[in-house]
Amino acid sequence: MTPEMSPDRPLGIFGGTFDPIHIAHLRLAQEALDACALGAVRFIPAGQPPHRARPGATSADRLAMARLALAGSAQFELDEAEVLSDAPSYTVPTLERLRGLFGQERPLVLLLGVDAFLGLPGWHRWRELFDLAHIAVATRPGHVMDFTSGAAKSDAGRAALEEEFAARQAPSPDALSATPAGRISHFEMTPLEISATAIRAVLAAGRSPRFLVPDGVLDYIEAQRLYI
Ligand code: ATP
Repeated sequence: MTPEMSPDRPLGIFGGTFDPIHIAHLRLAQEALDACALGAVRFIPAGQPPHRARPGATSADRLAMARLALAGSAQFELDEAEVLSDAPSYTVPTLERLRGLFGQERPLVLLLGVDAFLGLPGWHRWRELFDLAHIAVATRPGHVMDFTSGAAKSDAGRAALEEEFAARQAPSPDALSATPAGRISHFEMTPLEISATAIRAVLAAGRSPRFLVPDGVLDYIEAQRLYI
């Protein structure tokens, strides 16, 4: 085991629909490893995402693509539990399950793009997240950390999120390793204006998303004739 994979280092938790998984997801995780001094990042494809319309590919296909994308990266792990479950995917129960696996002391860092972070007030039991994990927010082109933006759903939700953000700010992302949960940090990642929505649109238009997704994922999409 390399020192980076040490079980004492914080574990990054990265959920998403991954429909399909793309290189901005992988870069976010890679850059979070360094920014937050993580030991590993655990990717958790969502089963039935509660916040959005049904994804374009089946759960089995999204899982297969994630497996292909993560193969060969020693610090990336795949958590299949949500995608194999019939229950809707909610983050608080997922974090409770991970606390059961990793104990109460290991820092857990939920990784979110800024768009996802601003949507937190719409999440089931979102304020309980801070009892279970830290949050590290990655920059994303086209989205700014603006609590007045529409993503936060309601005025009350926006105010509550801004309050949590102010009260819980860590001095730097690597300071998250000092405690198991409860702080918020943010980090700049290489700007990549890529989304799964745009990749699905490229495929539906008969064009190739080559170099926007890992080669193995592209081969799978083509072999299974997904998103056309
Ligand atoms: P879709 O277009 O279908 O909504 P997506 O590309 O946003 O998909 P998700 O699976 O919904 O991908 O996102 C998982 C996580 O990855 C979210 O926290 C999201 O903010 C983050 N993310 C996705 N793409 C980027 C990107 N280009 N830059 C930074 N963060 C990103």
